[in-house]
Amino acid sequence: MPIARLADLADPAECPRLVVKVGSSLLVGPEGVRREWLAGLVGEIAVARARGQDVIVVSSGSIALGAARLGLDKGGRGSLADAQAAAAVGQIALSALWAELLAAHRLTAAQLLLTLDDLEDRRRYLNATATLTRLLDAGAVPVVNENDSVATQEIRFGDNDRLAARVAQAAQASAVLLLSDVDGLYDRNPADPAARRLTEVHGITADIHAMADGGSGSGLGSGGMTSKLQAAEIAERAGIVLGIANGTAERPLARATCEEIGTLFLPRAARRGKAAARKAWLGGRLRLKGALTVDSGAAQALAGGSSLLAKGITAVDGAFVRGDAVTIRDASGAVVAHGLVEYDAAECTRLMGRHTREHAELLGYAPRPAIVHRDQLVLL
Ligand code: GLU
Repeated sequence: MPIARLADLADPAECPRLVVKVGSSLLVGPEGVRREWLAGLVGEIAVARARGQDVIVVSSGSIALGAARLGLDKGGRGSLADAQAAAAVGQIALSALWAELLAAHRLTAAQLLLTLDDLEDRRRYLNATATLTRLLDAGAVPVVNENDSVATQEIRFGDNDRLAARVAQAAQASAVLLLSDVDGLYDRNPADPAARRLTEVHGITADIHAMADGGSGSGLGSGGMTSKLQAAEIAERAGIVLGIANGTAERPLARATCEEIGTLFLPRAARRGKAAARKAWLGGRLRLKGALTVDSGAAQALAGGSSLLAKGITAVDGAFVRGDAVTIRDASGAVVAHGLVEYDAAECTRLMGRHTREHAELLGYAPRPAIVHRDQLVLL
C-alpha cells in the first residue's frame, strides 16, 4: 500500500525511510536553543529507529544559533558574510547538540554538510547517496545541513526545505516531513478566519501555488511556504510523499502522525528503478546551464515521449557544453522539460531549426541525431 495519510509516515512498513526536516524556529527560541523540545524529538526518532524505520534529519538552526552567540542582528541574515560567520559558529554547537541527545539513546549522529552542487552534479549526487546509504546501514542517524559557511548566493539552496527534498531523493526515502511553525498549507492567508487547511494535495497546480503567501511565521528560517511547495514539487517528481506539519509542540512527530494535523503532498505515481531515479534527479535540478526554446510541434512531440530534434528549436540560451542539464521551454516561456543536452550551445545554435539530415553538412560531423535524447529528458 502506498502512503496515503500522515499516520503512514510512522509506519515502517509503509515508510521504511523518513527524512525529517527541522526548521530554525523550532530549534531556536527567544531564550536560545530549545533543548527540552529537541530532546523530545530525539526520543521520538529513537522510537522510530527501534521500530525499524531509517531516519535522516535535516536540521536548520545554525545561522539562528550562531547569530545569537555572536550577537548579530536580523538573526544573522543581514548579509551573506553575517550568515556565513553565524553558520560557522552555530553549526558546531548544533551538531554537538544532536550528537549528545542522540547518544543518550545510544544512537550515533553523523554530520553531512552539503552544498547545492553536491546534489546538482550527478557524480557527487551519487556519492552523497552512497554515503547516506552506508551510514544508515551502519546504524547511524545522518544529520544534514547546508554548508552555509562556504556556500555563496549562487551556489546555495538557501532553504532547507528543498535541501530536504533533494536529500530524500538521494537517500531513496519514502517520505519527507517538514516540521516548522505552520500547521500546513491553507487555501488563503491563515490569518483569515475563513482559511481552511488542506489535508491532502494531489499535484501542485497554479492554484496551489497561489495559496502560498511566501511568509514564514518566525522570520528565523528562510523557507516560508514558497520553498515548501518547491520542495513538494521536487518530491512529487521523485515519487516521494512530502508532509508539512507544525512541530512547535512537544513530541512533534506524534502530533503530526497521530493527530494528523498537517498537509500531505502525494505524488501521482511512485517511481522505481534506475532510469526513473535518474530522471527524478534531473527533474529536481535547480540550477541549469542553459535553455532551449521549442516550437509548438516540438513541445507536442516531447509530450508524446519523443526526443528533442534540432528542427523544433527556436532559441538557444546559455553557455552549456555536451552533457549539461538544460531547461526546455515552450514558445510562451513555460518550462516543459529538463534534459541533458547532446551538443554544445554553439553547435545547437548552428543546428536549430534545421533538419537532422543537414547536420553533417553544417557541422562537418553529426554523431547524434537528437539534441536531447528522450532517455535523458524528463517532462515537468
Ligand atoms: N541552513 C540554514 C541554517 O542552518 C537554514 C536554512 C533554512 O532556514 O531553511 O540556519
